[in-house]
Amino acid sequence: MEIQEVVSSQKAFFKTHQTKNIKFRKMYLEKLRDLIIKNEDLMCEAIHQDFGKSKFDTFTTELSFVLNDIDYYLKNINSLSKSKSVRTNLSTQIGKSSIHPEPLGCVLVIGAWNYPYQLSLSPMIAALAAGNCCILKPSEIAENTMKVMSKLINENFPPEYLYVYEGGIDETTELLKLKFDKIFFTGSTKVGKFIYKAAAEHLTPVVLELGGKSPAIVTKDADLEIAAKRIVWGKFLNAGQTCVAPDYLLVEESIHEQFLEMVRKYITEFQYSPDAEHYTRIINRRNFDRLLKLIDKEKIYFGGNSDENKLYIEPTLLNNISWEDDIMQEEIFGPILPVIGFTNFNLVLNSILEQEKPLAAYLFTRNSEEKEAFTAKLSFGGGCINDVIMHLGNDRLPFGGVGASGMGNYHGKYGFEAFSHQKSILEKATWGEPNIKYPPYSEKKLSWIRKLL
Ligand code: NAD
Repeated sequence: MEIQEVVSSQKAFFKTHQTKNIKFRKMYLEKLRDLIIKNEDLMCEAIHQDFGKSKFDTFTTELSFVLNDIDYYLKNINSLSKSKSVRTNLSTQIGKSSIHPEPLGCVLVIGAWNYPYQLSLSPMIAALAAGNCCILKPSEIAENTMKVMSKLINENFPPEYLYVYEGGIDETTELLKLKFDKIFFTGSTKVGKFIYKAAAEHLTPVVLELGGKSPAIVTKDADLEIAAKRIVWGKFLNAGQTCVAPDYLLVEESIHEQFLEMVRKYITEFQYSPDAEHYTRIINRRNFDRLLKLIDKEKIYFGGNSDENKLYIEPTLLNNISWEDDIMQEEIFGPILPVIGFTNFNLVLNSILEQEKPLAAYLFTRNSEEKEAFTAKLSFGGGCINDVIMHLGNDRLPFGGVGASGMGNYHGKYGFEAFSHQKSILEKATWGEPNIKYPPYSEKKLSWIRKLL
């Protein structure tokens, strides 16, 4: 079936109102959960073929996320989709006011390759839970995972409800000419602009989950051991190919050397060797070459080795970096960690404020004034104090960017809301109508209205 026909069939199916039925939504969410559980090995194998991601990482950072999402919606779908009564104010009396969450229709989810299951399936699950029909376009760069998702879903779900469309740039460009009721995009800021433009043609609302350079600040008041351990884990998870990975480090000068030694210690301890099963590969040759160009050999503090046959890049620390260096001009998205020293905490916050708003920011300190200044002064999508990445693990926290790192958010109830419209209804009584609102008007009526409003 041509994709235009699938989209038309979804629009027609949506109009049958079947997706508004909670039992219908739950049935398919349960079906998806069973499929994922039954095909865990197949899914792990595909992602391993794509970029050597271990079974442990695939479960902890991809499948467990997606399964938790399904469980969350199965548990909360009734309350999330329920109409809510709100107070009726004096000027709208005599009446009852209520808000009715309703699905949007046929939505498009475009995924990125770096967490190919989570970033495609999580928004898709939120879209289905909210009662929409959905076209999922995973990233073609992680080809094997794309094929597994397309096989599992297209063989088990009716296309007029849910369909996985395999395609690269040309196919996506064509797809974007069609009219959707929402587009949920995860990917780079550059491509996000194309998506936004294409969506504007149809006045389609968007969620854009984009990237950016996420800083991690370590001050002299931090617990340095725990900071080093957590930063090393978060930076080299997925070989740095994580949208919320700490992109660069800002370290207070008085602890600079001591801290870098701790970082080196943990990199060694975690054994990211070329043959390590737990260390992910770079996704493709293009990114491998791009990353190697960012390593300034003069500034290597640790690492710098690579193996092009294995698309392996050793965790690499670059020291004495300045804001003007090439590596500070674009999102790194790989296992290279540049370090900039600082002496004044407030000035370093100002330097971050001069950059585009990042998707994440991290602060390591036990100093409450620093914590307050970090939260109050910086604008970023979300982040942690004394950890990295883990804010994504709490589905009570909305996840999304701000400014150049994106717009809109999801996870938990925020995902449901991203794919819902909040319809307002004021139901009026047919009696008790005050005459003062109707013409002809008079000074007396106006003076009454002033008192009432
Ligand atoms: P990308 O922007 O290259 O691709 C994302 C998606 O867009 C893919 O499905 C791809 O097929 C499609 N696409 C690519 N070029 C296109 C074009 N010209 N027109 C239409 N569609 C196009 O991003 P990527 O390389 O897959 O992922 C890396 C980027 O995504 C990084 O910047 C990273 O920070 C960001 N990211 C953000 C999040 C988040 O949740 N905010 C998560 C993961 C990745």
